[in-house]
Formats: sequence, C-alpha cells, structure tokens
Amino acid sequence: MQANDFESIRIQAESEAVTISTPQGLEEFRLKYLGRKGLLARASAIIPTLSQEERAEFGRKLNILKKALTVLVEEKAKTVAAKDSGSSINRIDLGLPGIAQELGRLHPITQVIDEICALFTRMGFIVVEGPEIETEYNNFTGLNIPLEHPSRDTFDTFYLKPKTDNLKPATKYLLRSHTSPVQVRAMKSRKPPLSIVVPGRVYRPDAVDASHSFMFHQVEGFLVDKGIKFSDLKGILEVFAKGIFGENIKMRFRPHFFPFTEPSAEVDISCIICQGKGCSVCGRKGWLEVLGCGMIHPNVFKHVGINAKTYTGFAFGMGVERIAMLKYGINDIRLFFENDLRFLKQF
Ligand SMILES: [Zn+2]
Repeated sequence: MQANDFESIRIQAESEAVTISTPQGLEEFRLKYLGRKGLLARASAIIPTLSQEERAEFGRKLNILKKALTVLVEEKAKTVAAKDSGSSINRIDLGLPGIAQELGRLHPITQVIDEICALFTRMGFIVVEGPEIETEYNNFTGLNIPLEHPSRDTFDTFYLKPKTDNLKPATKYLLRSHTSPVQVRAMKSRKPPLSIVVPGRVYRPDAVDASHSFMFHQVEGFLVDKGIKFSDLKGILEVFAKGIFGENIKMRFRPHFFPFTEPSAEVDISCIICQGKGCSVCGRKGWLEVLGCGMIHPNVFKHVGINAKTYTGFAFGMGVERIAMLKYGINDIRLFFENDLRFLKQF
C-alpha cells in the first residue's frame, strides 16, 4: 500500500478500528495513523517532492483523511470507555479512604441481662429459660397466688383464648406476667440443691408511658438447699448490687408482702445520682427500689413436691429495664424499644 493511497488507508483503518476493545488498543491505533511518526505524518513527508498543483490536491485529501480518522478515534474512544466502565478492575483507586462496615452490637437490655447473669453464674447459679406462653397454674396457682389476687385480673394479665377441648376442663393460657413460673417448672423437674437465674420477657397490659411498657424484661433468681437463711439472700444480693452499681452503694431491705415468699422484702440501693442526699430521681428519699425478694413460701414447695421441712430457699426478681435505667441514667423506658440508632449506639 502506498502512503498516499488515501482511500486504502481509510478502509484499512476502519477495519482495524472494529477490532479495538481497550483504551490501550485505541492509543496504539491513534499512534499508528495520527501520531508524529504515524502513517499520515509519513505521507505528508512527500509533499515537498510534489508540484504546485499536486500539493494542493494532496493536502486537501490528506486533511479529509486526517479529519475522518480523528472522528473515528473519538467515536471509538466513547465505546471503549463505556465497555471499560463495566469492569471495575481499572477503576479501583487505592488512595481512596475505605468504606467502614457498620458493625452491629448487643442491645443495652441484652447487655444488662448478660451482666446480671454473669454476676450470678460466678456465684454458682445456672441460667434457665422458660416459655413466654404459660399456664395459669404455673403463673399464679403454683406460686401461691390466690384466685382473688388482683394480679390475676384481666386488667393485669394477657389471657389467651382457651383451647376448645370438651373432654377436659380447659387449661387457661396467658402471656407470663413475671419470670417466676420458671421457678415452678425448674423445681418440679430438678432435685435440690438448686441455684438458678431466669432471664426473659414478661407481659402486662400497662399503658405505655415513660416508666411502663406492655412488655419488659425480668431476671428471676432462686436458691433451694438445706439450711438456707435470709442472711444468705442478703449476702448474694449485696454481691449483685455492688457488682452492678459499684462498691460504694448501700442497701436496705424493707418488709413487704409477696404471695410466693415469706418473709418478703423490697430492696433499695442508695441513690446513685445523689449518693443518698435526696434528688429528683429518688424523689428526695435518697433510696431507689431495685428488686423484690424473700424466703420461698412453704406452699410453693408443696405445689412442686419439695419437702419444706428439709429444704428452705430464697427467691428474688428484678426488672431489667429499671436496672438499666438506673445504671445509665435513662429517664424513659420507651427509648429501649424505639430502635433509634442514635440511642442504641451509645452502649
Ligand atoms: Zn437521689
């Protein structure tokens, strides 16, 4: 092919251009035809050897070819770039900062439950869980809660539709209103000595406000063995309270009534905000109620078949949200359940 054979150069360039698929291939193509040492540059080298008339004609054809090839390279550049964007390998910029992965974490309530359970398991307790749908017997009767007790009222408990089985009296089911039915289950299925903590969800038909929710969490604990005394209960709870709220807190036991324990007490800790001086959190009293407890009632032992003459035991129960709110100074229980990451990320 002659360098000045414009038409054959154009045909050759066009057929070669069809096979170009990479930016490098396109650059080689551009240099071959339009580069400083390319075919067109070499063709124009013969201009001085031509006559005046031939020069004009040659120059005109050369310019047309140059324009055609420039347009061809520009067009080709677009399709090569479009193809190239399909493969990310050429677009990785190692200098860019990385994209941080959002890591999940445990919910603050789960963290507090784990912390409470860890404290008790260090003292030899084991963790046992039970179902959230319970029989009325396990939730009330087995725990010595009499038929007329207000907590059995439908205003205080979510009852489920009874199963329609005409052959037997229907078993009443409910959403457990405390974790204590697991006491009944565990004491029936295991032999003393028992030392068990029970974390879990409980349900009560309370209107939702800053301190109430229809669902919340409790941790229940109980210990049954020969010769267990109220002082054992006090000792265990002191380890718990200091473990959760710090070595400097004080505790007090106030006499109280629960159907399933006798004697019973409510436990207060010295206010962690004002250290007992009195503030708005503790209602100027200097004390904060944290849990209920007592010695397991002999009637509960009777229901589960444990001899109350041989064995004694204690039980305690606490609301996890309350513990978490006191521990972290949170003033609204709803924050735990709204799934607002701005809140949850702080734990
Ligand atoms: Zn206070």
